[in-house]
Amino acid sequence: DRIVSTEADTTEGSFELSLRPQTLSQYIGQDKVKDNLKVFIQAAKMRQETLDHVLLYGPPGLGKTTLAAVIANEMGVNLRTTSGPAIERPGDLAAILTALEPGDVLFIDEIHRLPRSIEEVLYPAMEDFCLDIVIGNGPSARSVRLDLPPFTLVGATTRAGALSAPLRDRFGVLSRLEYYTEEQLREIVIRTSEIFQTSIDLPASFELARRSRGTPRIANRLLRRVRDFAQVKGNGTITTELAQEALELLQVDRLGLDHIDHKLLKGIIERFKGGPVGLDTISASIGEESHTIEDVYEPYLLQIGFLQRTPRGRIVTHLVYEHFQMEVPEK
Ligand code: ATP
Repeated sequence: DRIVSTEADTTEGSFELSLRPQTLSQYIGQDKVKDNLKVFIQAAKMRQETLDHVLLYGPPGLGKTTLAAVIANEMGVNLRTTSGPAIERPGDLAAILTALEPGDVLFIDEIHRLPRSIEEVLYPAMEDFCLDIVIGNGPSARSVRLDLPPFTLVGATTRAGALSAPLRDRFGVLSRLEYYTEEQLREIVIRTSEIFQTSIDLPASFELARRSRGTPRIANRLLRRVRDFAQVKGNGTITTELAQEALELLQVDRLGLDHIDHKLLKGIIERFKGGPVGLDTISASIGEESHTIEDVYEPYLLQIGFLQRTPRGRIVTHLVYEHFQMEVPEK
């Protein structure tokens, strides 16, 4: 229940859906990715072919699902959505693939979590639009080839490195989504407030953008909470004072760090003199799982230069001491 979590919480489904940009021109930021996609989409349409398979990778909450829907919309085809962990048996994938219509976009979220046996079903499907199915077993088993409609696979992953090389090689387009800049997040905040029909001061929009950890999902969530606050405490307009007061109550500091970040960073400073300290030691000392620290807490702290990963362990940088107005200790 972290307000700065990059994961969508269970109540956010319909709220997020209402905010999803539909076209590339409504999709803010990620200019390099968009410029490439624009060309590939236009070329595929001119040749009346399906778009090449696309792999989107980058931290959670940056808009991979949204972009998959935008691609389908720009191509004028349907979007079918599933995820790596949801496909347990080859038959599950076969059922999805055979139900596609020509040109459809199939979005597989967390594609790095597909079992290897299923990946192998995917290879001929991606390459030749066909399925090799084994019927029967033992000596009477035979392989049958089934034609599929041409389709575009859009895979999303937070860990491109965890994808097997044969799978990665079958994507024609590899696009890395980056953390959003403050200005892009501000545009997202403004866009969302227009959809909400809420007015927001210019400095308040900057304040929210700065605290959104480079992530649209967080920007939209903070805006939603601050809007409630403005409605109850003010006259509905999100002023700078109201935004600051609300964010303080929500315990999101001026860089978007919350109590968990504080606990992690201060733990390294107070118990390990700022590091280097190994991940497992940090995990034991603050009572959080190592992989949660690595996958959830650290990426943004690394991104803003607050943490460094070294072969000897994690180190907090001088920026952390400045942020907490602490003296850098003598080593
Ligand atoms: P996950 O990795 O958890 O699946 P994601 O990267 O797929 O997340 P989305 O669900 O696509 O993230 O986006 C989260 C929210 O942020 C959505 O509500 C969407 O409206 C908004 N959003 C994402 N990208 C943009 C963008 N470029 N412009 C405007 N809004 C965006």
